[in-house]
Amino acid sequence: MEIVHHFSSNRNRAFKDLVDRLEIPYDHVESILGEFVYVDISESDDRWPELEANLGNLDVSHTVGTRFSKKEIRESDWLLAGVGEFQYPQPENGYREITYDLSNACKLCATGKNQKAPFRLRGDFTQKRAVFLGLHWVFDVIFIRPHVVRMLQREFGDSIRTLPVLCHRTGKEVENLLQLKIPVLEREFITDTDMIFEVCNLCGVAKRIRKERGMIATSPLEEGEGSPLFLTSEWFGAGRSSRRQIVASNAFMRFVENQKLRGLRFEPLNTGSANQ
Ligand SMILES: [Zn+2]
Repeated sequence: MEIVHHFSSNRNRAFKDLVDRLEIPYDHVESILGEFVYVDISESDDRWPELEANLGNLDVSHTVGTRFSKKEIRESDWLLAGVGEFQYPQPENGYREITYDLSNACKLCATGKNQKAPFRLRGDFTQKRAVFLGLHWVFDVIFIRPHVVRMLQREFGDSIRTLPVLCHRTGKEVENLLQLKIPVLEREFITDTDMIFEVCNLCGVAKRIRKERGMIATSPLEEGEGSPLFLTSEWFGAGRSSRRQIVASNAFMRFVENQKLRGLRFEPLNTGSANQ
């Protein structure tokens, strides 16, 4: 794994001069909103120590994350799974009330929500290659093509279940699209204490935001438990947002990779040992 630093700055001449002087590659975007410089740099990069030493109190946005190797991903027993974001749930103002039972949910961040109805979308996704698809705002839901559901059911049996997806305008089912119905593991799974947390002002739930360095630590699972996909009982997110995390077994990840099914990304978990 590599520790990677992400920087973004707007109209910050001193930061741009610094990365130019150190010959660090960056993305440069000019628009009516400003002049942006984005840098991703690994701590293993020769230029990192000098950048770090010269950052001083330059006013740039800076976050830290971990980039995992293909080997670390392939060898991990359990993995976080995520999809790309391609459209908004409908109606944009009010999808929560229509889609979720909120009777036990926080009125600010909606931890405690339970899906009670199909998602409503503008229509089908237009992405041609991805067979796993996702939404803005709602990060713990996976949409899927029916032929992929049949492939997964042949491999993993009845544990692969689905829900219909509705077109918001017509109320009819969107053809050739389903939502994967992912069960919640109703016990503690994520045990990592070395993460960035945010406590909701209203419900007091400590939501996890991210881990900066290394794999997220979890408790072990029993044989057969959680497989092939589950949602954590722990909540993640910041501000008004809350979500569970989607977790996939090694067998699920390998099936997806071996069959070249596109649209999911995986991040390894450190299951059953101390924080690392
Ligand atoms: Zn809350």
